[in-house]
Amino acid sequence: MTAQLIDGNALARQIRAEVAGRTQALKARGVEPALAIILVGDDPASQVYVKHKVNDSSETGLTAKLERYGADLAEAELLERIDALNKDPSVHGILVQLPLPKHMDSHKVIEAISPAKDVDGFHVASAGALMVGQPGFWPCTPHGCLRMLDSIGYELRGRHAVVIGRSNIVGKPMAMMLLGRSATVTICHSATADLGAMTRQADVIVAAVGRQNLVTADMVKPGAVVIDVGMNRNAEGKLCGDVDFDGVKEVAGWITPVPGGVGPMTRAMLLVNTIEAAERATA
Ligand code: NAD
Repeated sequence: MTAQLIDGNALARQIRAEVAGRTQALKARGVEPALAIILVGDDPASQVYVKHKVNDSSETGLTAKLERYGADLAEAELLERIDALNKDPSVHGILVQLPLPKHMDSHKVIEAISPAKDVDGFHVASAGALMVGQPGFWPCTPHGCLRMLDSIGYELRGRHAVVIGRSNIVGKPMAMMLLGRSATVTICHSATADLGAMTRQADVIVAAVGRQNLVTADMVKPGAVVIDVGMNRNAEGKLCGDVDFDGVKEVAGWITPVPGGVGPMTRAMLLVNTIEAAERATA
């Protein structure tokens, strides 16, 4: 079998076009949807991510307000700034780029963001809303993965999904979203004794660990859908996922590539959350 590709770039393009349409509709009623992005310090990867977020926003017609601060910014000052943005009606979404400098408590900073503007979906209130099935903001990466499954018309009800990785921003929310669609969900992690025994039972595998070649062809049931969240550098320095793509594509029914899979979808879902925040605030 040679798996069909789920093209994250193409799907993200479609989603950006939808967001651009919703942005136009808001502007027609005099609302300028805006995202505030806070970058503290000079972490090189964060600078690249933030640049993408600003560009993606402008391309879709959203206003991105980038605020850069030195690594020596006091936590209290950052909290004050977030408080001001929470109260500013011209700002609909607030994103604090992680990681923050070591002297700051990231949890405290994220909790300072109003849940109504928490477009990253990292606030405890957002996690709780997902858990109990209430409206909130879903974290962008797992939400993007779900949209990829939807894009192939995959019926999750009654299927067995195995999520590898239990981080708060990917694995756990992914599991909740799949459960919300009535899949049977297994979450695997570093202490899972026999990962292959789990994944071989899966109709859907979501790999979110950060280890190259974690998922190999012998671990995949023929025809399964394989979503690769991982972002690693291989020996040649090229971006690769957690899945041995060349091997697994011969067994799986569907597979996402790296690059061009979950990455662009994550970026697109931030725009979706931002326009959603602006629509909710001005409904
Ligand atoms: P994390 O380090 O917080 O979590 C990794 C998880 O993997 C942990 O739950 C750990 O228990 C589990 N794990 C480690 N070794 C394992 C093993 N041998 N078998 C099974 N599970 C194991 O990471 P994260 O933030 O969730 O990110 C995971 C990966 O996804 C990273 O490569 C990251 O770069 C990538 N990522 C990609 C995107 C994207 O947009 N494409 C977004 C977020 C994260």
